[in-house]
Amino acid sequence: MAGSMRDWIEKWDGLGVVVHYDAPSEAWFYVALHDDTLGPPTGGCRMKLYAHPDDGLVDALRLARGMTYKWAGIDLPFGGGKSVIALSRPLRGEERVETLLRFGGLLQSLRGAYWTGEDLGTTPEDMATIARATRYVHGVKKPGEPAVDPGPYTARGVLAGIRGAAEHFLGKENLAGVSVLIQGVGHVGEPLARSLAESGARLILSDLDSERARGLAAELGAEVVGAEAIDTPCDVFAPCAVGGVLNAETIPRLQCRIVAGSANNQLREDGDANRLRDRGILYVPDYVVNAGGAIGLALLGRKRSDAEIEERIDGIREAILAILEESAERGEAPVKAADRRAERNLERKAAALAE
Ligand code: NAD
Repeated sequence: MAGSMRDWIEKWDGLGVVVHYDAPSEAWFYVALHDDTLGPPTGGCRMKLYAHPDDGLVDALRLARGMTYKWAGIDLPFGGGKSVIALSRPLRGEERVETLLRFGGLLQSLRGAYWTGEDLGTTPEDMATIARATRYVHGVKKPGEPAVDPGPYTARGVLAGIRGAAEHFLGKENLAGVSVLIQGVGHVGEPLARSLAESGARLILSDLDSERARGLAAELGAEVVGAEAIDTPCDVFAPCAVGGVLNAETIPRLQCRIVAGSANNQLREDGDANRLRDRGILYVPDYVVNAGGAIGLALLGRKRSDAEIEERIDGIREAILAILEESAERGEAPVKAADRRAERNLERKAAALAE
């Protein structure tokens, strides 16, 4: 990646970054604090091998900014933050545990300036390890226990988002008979499939692990298609596997009316939002529709009841309806309206704080 660490930080519009070199593991720890207008910077910890440690910093800066928009988009009292443990070699066993404990020690020294949780490359067990060294971890109910799986919360939010989109775009008050293609039936896709089946939707499942897709399909009475079969006709395409699935090559092939799923960064580039709009396909912004897991873990950390958590996650439907109505009025891609809504929430709170 071109540019030095200093260049990237200079260009960034966040609050600041904590940088630590962990000599025993030769890993770099980055804690990026993007914005605290709505509350303490909060976002997951990514642990990954990087060709150069600066690439981990760039990821942390970009992802922390994304978290600011995610929280503001659903108007919850958390700020944008993200951490990255940039590895130069894989860490296993005791060495991994010791590294995570030192990372937890760093978070503890920040005294709540940043709250973490699971992300790509970290597991519920890793979160339990970090929680041995700091209280600033979401999703761990009791020290020593693995963290709660955010997948079912995320799936609940995606379901709420699909409901809102189907109501707005297809005029459907419920999902009976609506066909949904789920790409990836993992921690999010599987519970999503189960709740869609309960809602009477017609399911089409796909997964790189075809056994997994077939097993679930047999249980739910769903159809199975190959992992790359995004050109299968359906009402809703729900990408719940990898990012970048919506791009100049795939968008012309889509045969759906709506795209709404959990995968992060579904658009390969910003212009893909307009490509979808030009094809008459409604793209529901990923960072709004996949916020359920973040909401669930953050509110669990604040000891909120299950009923309150579910209500906040179900609120994703109203958030999406408001975004879709605004974007339809202005004739623009919904992602623009989503960004503006998040910025409005931030400005409103900043103005209230300044009074
Ligand atoms: P997961 O690893 O549990 O499941 C992903 C599934 O997708 C696996 O079954 C895998 O075999 C399959 N898969 C991978 N590549 C595929 C491809 N090209 N085509 C079809 N299937 C493929 O992951 P998850 O936790 O369910 O997350 C799914 C997506 O949602 C990821 O992009 C993740 O970043 C995003 N997300 C997850 C959460 C959460 O709470 N887990 C929250 C927000 C966003």
